[in-house]
This record gives sequence, C-alpha cells and structure tokens, in this order.
Amino acid sequence: MSPEHTAQADDSKPGMEIAVVGGGLSGTLTAYLLGRAGHSVTLIDRHRSFPRTFRSEKLGPGEIETLRRFGLSAAVAARAACFDETLNMRRGSVVDRTHARHFGILYHDLVEAIRAEMPAAVRFVQGQVREIKAGARRQRITIVGHEEVTARLLVLATGTGDTLRRDLGITRRIIRPRQSVAFGFNLRPTGTDGFRHAALTWYGERVSDGIDYLSLFPVAGAMRANLFAYRDRGDSWIRALRERPKDTLAAAFPGLIGTMGDFEIEGPVDSWITDIAVADNYRQDGVVLVGDAFQTTCPATGTGVTRLLTDVERLCTSYIPRWTSHNVMTAADLAAFYDDAEKRRMDAYALETADFRRRLTIGTEMEWRLRRYCHFALRRVLNGIDRLSPALVGKLRQIKDAQSGQNVPSAV
Ligand SMILES: Cc1cc2nc3c(=O)[nH]c(=O)nc-3n(C[C@H](O)[C@H](O)[C@H](O)COP(=O)(O)OP(=O)(O)OC[C@H]3O[C@@H](n4cnc5c(N)ncnc54)[C@H](O)[C@@H]3O)c2cc1C
Repeated sequence: MSPEHTAQADDSKPGMEIAVVGGGLSGTLTAYLLGRAGHSVTLIDRHRSFPRTFRSEKLGPGEIETLRRFGLSAAVAARAACFDETLNMRRGSVVDRTHARHFGILYHDLVEAIRAEMPAAVRFVQGQVREIKAGARRQRITIVGHEEVTARLLVLATGTGDTLRRDLGITRRIIRPRQSVAFGFNLRPTGTDGFRHAALTWYGERVSDGIDYLSLFPVAGAMRANLFAYRDRGDSWIRALRERPKDTLAAAFPGLIGTMGDFEIEGPVDSWITDIAVADNYRQDGVVLVGDAFQTTCPATGTGVTRLLTDVERLCTSYIPRWTSHNVMTAADLAAFYDDAEKRRMDAYALETADFRRRLTIGTEMEWRLRRYCHFALRRVLNGIDRLSPALVGKLRQIKDAQSGQNVPSAV
C-alpha cells in the first residue's frame, strides 16, 4: 500500500474515485478488488495494523474458493494452519467426519494477509473518521487529524460501529437480541506432543446445557477452541467457563479428554454476545454498506464471512463496473446492489440458519425434539454408508447441495 495520504483522491486515474471506510475483512477486500480493477481507492481505518480481535477464526471450502477467485488463497494459506479432516462427535460417539480443506487463521492475521497483497495504488489513511456527508455527486469524509477526503462513491464497512451510519440517518435494528454467546481460547496439550485429531467438533450433550457446539481446530502455533452457546449474559455457567475453563469443559463434554488427549487452557477466554442487527434506511445517494455494517450474523452459523464475501464480490465485480460511467450516484442506481438476488439469498440464509441452529440446540417443542433426533441420526446413517460406499454418499451430498442452491459454509 502507498504511504498514508492527506489529500483529495486523484482524478487523473481511470475508473472511479472510491473511499472505503473501515478496514476489517469487508473493507480490506473491497479496497483490494477495486484497486486491482484500476479504481482510485482510499481505504480509511483507525488501525494501521488490524488489532487482535475475536471474530471469525476458520475458513471453509466455499470461502477458500472465493479467496482463490480473488487471487488471495495462497497468501491466506501461508499464514493459516490448513487441515482436511474434522471429527464430529456427540454424546461420546462419532457422528461423522468432514473431509474438506479448512484454514484455521485468527482474524487479525487474515486481515493482515490481505492487506499485505494490497495493490500499491490503494492509499491507506490511518485515522478515526469523525463525520461523513453523502450525496449523489460527492462524498465528504472528515478524519481526525487529516484533511478531508472526497470521493464519488463511499463504501461503508465499519462493522457494528453506529456513529457514522447515524450521520446519514441509517439506523440499526436489532432483530435477535442476545442471539448467542461465543467463546474463543487456546488449548495446549499436556503429557504428549500433540492432540489425537487435527480438528474436532463436539455438539452439545443436553438441551439444558444450551451449547450448540465446541470446535477445536489448529491456527498458526496453537490449537484454538470456539464454543457457541445460547445462554444469558449473567449465567453462572458463563462465569464458570471463564474462571475454571478446563473443569467446565470436561463436565460439559464427557469424553473430550479421552478423545483429544489431556490439555490446559492457555491465555485468556475471549467472549462475545451477538445481537443480530440489520440496517434500516440504507438506500441513500452515494453510499453503500457491506459486511456487518449492513447485517450482523450469528457466529455459530459460520455464515458471517460467506455473507460478507458475497457482498464484496457482487458489489465489486458486478455493480461498480456498471456505475463507472455515472456522473451521479443516486440511491436508485445503488439499489441494484441491495436487490441483487444472490446477496438477498445469502442475507436471508444467514438469518434462517441462525434460527435453525438455535432451535435445533435448545428447542423443546416436539417438532424440534424430533428434528434434533433426525438431524443427528441421518448424519450417523450417512456416515455408516460412507464407510461402505463413499461414492454413494458423495452423490447424496451433491444432490442435497444442489437442492439447497447455496454456496454456503460446510454444515456445522
Ligand atoms: C466472536 C465472533 C465470532 C465469529 N465467528 C465467525 C465464524 O466462525 N465464521 C464466520 O463466518 N463469521 C464469524 N463471525 C462474523 C465475522 O467475523 C464478521 O461478520 C466479520 O468479521 C465482519 O467484518 P467487517 O469487515 O464487516 O467488520 P469489522 O471486522 O468489524 O471491521 C470494521 C472496521 O471498521 C473500522 N471502523 C469502524 N468505525 C470507524 C471509524 N469511525 N473510523 C475508522 N475506522 C472505523 C474498525 O476499526 C474495523 O477495522 C464472528 C463474529 C464474532 C463477533
């Protein structure tokens, strides 16, 4: 990336002047794709190096394939721990095994891997955006300690931050308050050199535990754990997990130590309570929202990254190229992006999956008891057939994927 600048974007270049506010995964990818396409891009973020933050820490096959299309999979793989098999367990026995390439990578490493590939023409401004003014002809961005940046189009990728959206009259509507709680921590093997399996998913044992699943997977230099549950903020189990993580895990997942090998918890237990929120009044002149700025997702579904990749890919490869010749950028022009069929399907799918996982985990109605039983029974049956006839199960899975019509993360 070129050095920080404090001036107006360069009019002499081909393409369009675009300012991207927010340099998390959505904003960084947007700036990368638009810079590569020859647009004059300014990326603005508070942090020069993305700080360590608990967010997505694992990429599945669909996400890796999208990164490959972007020309980024090798750069991300170089900082990730790659693994190809996940053992899936419940109630002390094997449900099935997932065979697919995954990357374990902490969020800041992922963002930094992409920033390192940024085309030199993309200008990076490190600073806190204080105010934005949007209109059909010109967008004005006020950054603390810098000159104003102006652009023809503003991409807002500020995650869950509300202040800037509010400047534009865009509001955030929480549609699923306290949907789930996520925990992240590191495990260190004790007594042996390593763990018995490369990666493991262990589903909650009892409905009363409110645990969706525990996922153990390698990241560079560590075995990482992500645990997703549907529990209230003040819950004593949450306190116990923070204070006595190993004992609390061993009690919640009997057989875990026998399956993986003994371990200690190393470092802090990160936690995050997710409200699922959507933006309202976002159809505005001159500005588009991507990623969490548009809609947040439940971490347990593993759909947050696929959602934002869909936003970024559709915006940068289908819509912005069509808008290059426009002198004005009205809300009616930009509506084509928000109405994109693939984007809408992915946004809706992320919400449906959040409801599905929550009810599959803690639903006590007869319907959900039955669905829970069938869900795991079917997976166990397919696993049995898989061992006898992998080709047949491959075919059944292909049919299932074709019916769902989604390029979605591998099932959790
Ligand atoms: C705990 C947790 C676990 C998750 N696990 C998964 C998972 O397993 N799988 C999955 O697919 N998804 C997961 N997600 C969701 C996924 O991580 C998010 O959807 C994704 O990180 C959103 O990226 P973003 O770029 O939109 O926002 P962010 O990464 O939040 O980036 C926003 C950026 O905007 C910048 N910014 C904000 N305001 C300003 C300002 N005024 N001036 C300058 N800069 C500003 C911030 O500094 C930040 O860099 C998880 C989320 C959480 C919280």
